[in-house]
Amino acid sequence: MRKISKIYVHHSALPRDKSLSEIRKLHLARGFEDVGYHFIIDSKGEILQGRSVEETGAHVKRDNIESIGICVCGNFEEEQPLPSQLEALEKLISSLYKRFGKLQVLGHRDYSESDTLCPGRYLYQLLPELRSKIKVSQNSVEKR
Ligand SMILES: [Zn+2]
Repeated sequence: MRKISKIYVHHSALPRDKSLSEIRKLHLARGFEDVGYHFIIDSKGEILQGRSVEETGAHVKRDNIESIGICVCGNFEEEQPLPSQLEALEKLISSLYKRFGKLQVLGHRDYSESDTLCPGRYLYQLLPELRSKIKVSQNSVEKR
């Protein structure tokens, strides 16, 4: 298993109802082997599996090695994420903490070499609250 130290949160920058199949198509067209994200949260708050977490993703240029990519469907420069999407994101990150221990939770734009608005201002501004909400239960952390 590769070492995982952080999570990057993304938006699709597409209309909210465009989900995994459209994102996969775009990524294949860019020459990726499969969708670059590990998880996709759709407009209903469903968590869809993209690439396996055991595989390196393709979501933050030059910072994919130790990271997991989660994409929330929508363009959050222009609209607010839905409560169901935020709940799903919180649930997903909690489950990743249980599996990998506490991880850094970043927005794509936090990576210094990124020139992007991703995950959009409305989602980005919610990340501090999200980080503080997610509890780390040390007992449940599996050591790997
Ligand atoms: Zn991104």
